[in-house]
Amino acid sequence: MRIPFNRPFMTPEALVYMRQAYENGHLSGDGPFTKKCQSWLEARIGCKKALLTHSGTAALEMAAILADIRPGDEVIMPSFTFSSTANAFVMRGGVPIFVDIRPDTLNIDETKIEAAITVKTKAIVAVHYAGISCQMDVILAIAHQHNLLVIEDAAHSILCSYHGKNLGSIGDLAALSFHETKTLQSGEGGALLVNNPRLAERAEIIREKGTNRSQFFRGEVDKYTWLDVGSSYLPSDLVAAFLLSQLESAETIVKRRRLIWERYHTAFHDLERSGKVQRPFVPDFCEHTAHMYYLLLQDEWQRTRFLSCMKKRGVMATFHYLPLHESPAGRRFGRVNGPMNITVSVSGRLARLPLWMGIESSLDYIVDSARSVILEEEKVAWT
Ligand SMILES: *Cc1c(COP(=O)(O)O)cnc(C)c1O
Repeated sequence: MRIPFNRPFMTPEALVYMRQAYENGHLSGDGPFTKKCQSWLEARIGCKKALLTHSGTAALEMAAILADIRPGDEVIMPSFTFSSTANAFVMRGGVPIFVDIRPDTLNIDETKIEAAITVKTKAIVAVHYAGISCQMDVILAIAHQHNLLVIEDAAHSILCSYHGKNLGSIGDLAALSFHETKTLQSGEGGALLVNNPRLAERAEIIREKGTNRSQFFRGEVDKYTWLDVGSSYLPSDLVAAFLLSQLESAETIVKRRRLIWERYHTAFHDLERSGKVQRPFVPDFCEHTAHMYYLLLQDEWQRTRFLSCMKKRGVMATFHYLPLHESPAGRRFGRVNGPMNITVSVSGRLARLPLWMGIESSLDYIVDSARSVILEEEKVAWT
């Protein structure tokens, strides 16, 4: 038996739509399927503008350009995140300023942000870990007071919400990812969501190699030309066709993922009460779409043992982010502000369990395995 950590899911419509994209005679970017995906995202998330990109990383890179990051500018973010969150700004000469996370949601600790602000600070990046929202009211108030942009890294949080507002519709800008490991996916893929109307026109230009080609196609100008820095950030319409099939099935996908998440959450309730594990914490003003299920073990040794014993039983559980501030590139390009104890501790103790469409029939086995490993029912050597 081998249960992979992730297995991408395809709807029956995916191939139908991809064939249709071919028959439309438009396989490059910004074809009919791209437009449908963008309209869907704008309607469902409530952002001002959605622009599909070829990855979440590309959306973050666009956000860094739109934030006008110049060499030496500082961007406040958690260290417990993916390299792309920091890299996008480093590519513009920016300096990531890492602050610690909260021990409950594992999101940036909003009470530590203000102390990290200097005259060089340009933006705050709110990474909604596992689709659980950061404390956006506090973050928006700080940003407003110090005139900073708020960028949501919403790679885990499509259709998640904070006090009833969809994540991705709250900050000035937001990045979604449709990588195959994410809740809705197209292999590789992403979207930049623009909520600040001041940034909308420039976003289109940056995405189209620095030209006003989008305006030209809408008939707003009679030729298009090079206006700004930019790159080719748009995905093929073939990818958008696949993505549309996922967006249209979002409700079914999310419903099934939530049941899996709940099954895990119920199964480990007593282990949390007895202090063996810590389960994900969901504040009552947050709704999430079951991007991930994780457990925090007691220490790094227990985590290593857990992953190893699960693997022996054929279950591919896995760790997550190594703190960026301790990584070679993080040390070179970034800086910490304040102690990073929670980040370091969480990173060493966190184990993610497999969660994908179709895993349902293996859930009893995974839960039984995890429980018996945690309860040390087996005395087998694991190294
Ligand atoms: C996946 C992810 C990204 C990058 O997305 P890609 O589509 O893989 O480029 C960025 N930030 C976070 C938090 C992610 O999990």
